[in-house]
Amino acid sequence: MAKLIDGKVISAAVKAEVAAETEELKKQGITPGLAVIIVGEDPASKVYVANKEKACQQMGFASFKYALPAETTQEELLELVKKLNEDPAVHGILCQLPLPRHLDEESVINTIVPEKDVDAFHPQNVGKIMIGNYDFLPCTPAGVMEMLKYENIDVNGKECVVIGRSNIVGKPMAMLLLHKNGTVTICHSRTKDLAEVCRRADILVAAVGRANFVTADMVKEGAVVIDVGINRLENGKLCGDVNFAEVEPKASYITPVPGGVGPMTIATLMKNTLTAAKKQNNL
Ligand code: NAD
Repeated sequence: MAKLIDGKVISAAVKAEVAAETEELKKQGITPGLAVIIVGEDPASKVYVANKEKACQQMGFASFKYALPAETTQEELLELVKKLNEDPAVHGILCQLPLPRHLDEESVINTIVPEKDVDAFHPQNVGKIMIGNYDFLPCTPAGVMEMLKYENIDVNGKECVVIGRSNIVGKPMAMLLLHKNGTVTICHSRTKDLAEVCRRADILVAAVGRANFVTADMVKEGAVVIDVGINRLENGKLCGDVNFAEVEPKASYITPVPGGVGPMTIATLMKNTLTAAKKQNNL
């Protein structure tokens, strides 16, 4: 039976540290501020934004929410970002993705000043991560690394397989595992013999976005299985990319969905916002 890696417990520990440091910072007159922009009515995005606002309150941060109508123009959105870039009360800026189709995500990401890019999506921050000399780490992959650290799972020399190559999860995930000396393989929709490649993994990370995609035959006995996927089933329930019932008996460690990687993503966002506030105040 696998040990469950509890994202709720680990994220609570990270958030407690952030809250304690924030309390100290506030004594110096600095309140970390996070601005979250949401455009349109996507229900999943609304839930994510509400969770981020709630976490800001728990941390003692100032949170600024900008809920813009779906018909917002590119110019209007970029104007808002530029205004927030200049606002000293705002240390982190996040634009919830995906945006409505008429809006260009890349130009929004590129307009956020790198110092306030707490998602670490700006090309300058992505480049810094590649080099290994960074200010912020992308929230979801960094959350996964925090889970591994908390459970004392050593990445050094391990076979790591990441399924998915998105800029948000798969690619930076692979890079962070590489920084910790993992031997990393990235799989994607064109990978041949996916099951065979996955079976090599000591640490298997699934970031595909397809319910129950990872089955027992893809998992080596004793592997650490990290499920990043968040999929909504027809019955309304959330489930990951891993077929939990099948895979859990084979794994040594496994993350559940919900209550696994998801809470870690928000905890890292809080950590990044605190880092941004400190850096912008030369601390
Ligand atoms: P994405 O759609 O951008 O990328 C999916 C990746 O899966 C692609 O790179 C694609 O090549 C790969 N893929 C698709 N079909 C495949 C196949 N048949 N075989 C192998 N690879 C295949 O998605 P994303 O933004 O990287 O997100 C992935 C999942 O993680 C989604 O379910 C998303 O909701 C979830 N997610 C969770 C969190 C969190 O906090 N837990 C954060 C971000 C994303």
